[in-house]
Amino acid sequence: MPKITEPKVKKTPKSSMSKSLGLLRGFKDILPADQSYWRFIQEAAESFYRGYGFAKIDPPILEEASLFVRSIGKQTDIVEKEMFSFADQGQGLVVLRPEATASIARAYINHGMINLPQPVKLFYWGPMFRRERPQSGRQRQFHQFGFEILGDPNPVIDAQIIGIVASFFQQIGLDQISIQVNSIGCPTCRKVYLQELVTYYRSKRKSLCEDCKKRLTKNPLRLLDCKNQSCQLVRTEAPQIVDWLDEECKNHFMKVVGYLDELNIAYILNPYLVRGLDYYTRTVFEVWPKEIKEGAQSALCGGGRYDGLIEMLGGRPTPAAGVAIGIERVITQLRAQEVEIPNYSQAEIFLAQIGDQAKVKALQLFEQLRRGNIRVAENFAKDSLKAQLELANKIGVRYALILGQKEVMDGTILIRDMESGVQEIIDFNKTVNELKKKLANGNSN
Ligand code: AMP
Repeated sequence: MPKITEPKVKKTPKSSMSKSLGLLRGFKDILPADQSYWRFIQEAAESFYRGYGFAKIDPPILEEASLFVRSIGKQTDIVEKEMFSFADQGQGLVVLRPEATASIARAYINHGMINLPQPVKLFYWGPMFRRERPQSGRQRQFHQFGFEILGDPNPVIDAQIIGIVASFFQQIGLDQISIQVNSIGCPTCRKVYLQELVTYYRSKRKSLCEDCKKRLTKNPLRLLDCKNQSCQLVRTEAPQIVDWLDEECKNHFMKVVGYLDELNIAYILNPYLVRGLDYYTRTVFEVWPKEIKEGAQSALCGGGRYDGLIEMLGGRPTPAAGVAIGIERVITQLRAQEVEIPNYSQAEIFLAQIGDQAKVKALQLFEQLRRGNIRVAENFAKDSLKAQLELANKIGVRYALILGQKEVMDGTILIRDMESGVQEIIDFNKTVNELKKKLANGNSN
């Protein structure tokens, strides 16, 4: 057996040893109380990807830094200052992925998916990492799920993706939302537009914030995205990209919104909507809550077409479109819009026992109930019936099962309705079936 030696650890100074350890800035625990929301969204997302014919893919969390530099763009906030990157011994620079679309494009190339029937429809779910300034709605580790359709240039694909997102939010009960749509053209017509935009903004340089002054040379499309009041005022007179789209881009966009109209999907044409990632072409969209809290980051999802991405990464030209939905933001909205969601962890019954023999029998019965998919709460360490029923009350179960010495002798068990206090004696061997009937009746009331 190889000898295992203790790794050498630097001695921690005494003062920091006594300090309790906290979370890193921008990182959060997902606590048991939040898990029902996560499960609710996950179940809905899974039924959507299966229902719409997507296949699931799980790219790794760690990728080569160059994947994101080449795809998201050198001059973007994400690549310039927000990537968690480090040198891996001998492997160059690696990063915790800031998003998944680039990884999916890489996987499409690596696994020769171009040889599959097109388009290829992929779904993903997982954590993303951006070293942003944490604030309400913005974390350094957050989670996204997304739908990507690769290998088809048709505008119907863009409309389908927006349609999936619209019916997803409707299904989970978020109806106070607005879908914002725009086209940012192709690299050719965008280039001409950007010259116009920069000329206009240069003439208003004095009114711009420091960030926008930098954007003039680095990333002019993001000028339209600035939240600064003075910059927003400048924006009202800025040239709009829709007026600069070339014929093909204009036709594409008209078709996308035409499909949305046919599908009765309400949307807002937002000429200022741009995205923080370089790979987008033509259609871009976001979904916003109707009521936006001042200062809070609140877009629920962002997506669009990215026809150049796969080629940028070394693959054959492959048009594609997709969307990424921010799970934490969706949960915040479910809470804000007071959407009722199932409480998956709520126990349905409490199993109380009195006496040693009853305890042993109750332990066995617990297993049968669990196998019968009944969620049971218990405290086998307690002996007093009063204490156990108080706990049952606190948990809020509908029924308590009570097993005492007498019931063990008789081969029976008591079912107590916790609301009315009425108790019923039933045959011990029929416990699971009787309970299932009672719970089903209660649910249909
Ligand atoms: P993006 O990948 O930037 O297009 O973002 C898509 C969605 O992910 C956004 O609309 C948000 O819902 C969510 N999102 C992006 N960045 C963060 C973050 N730092 N914290 C929480 N959610 C985020």
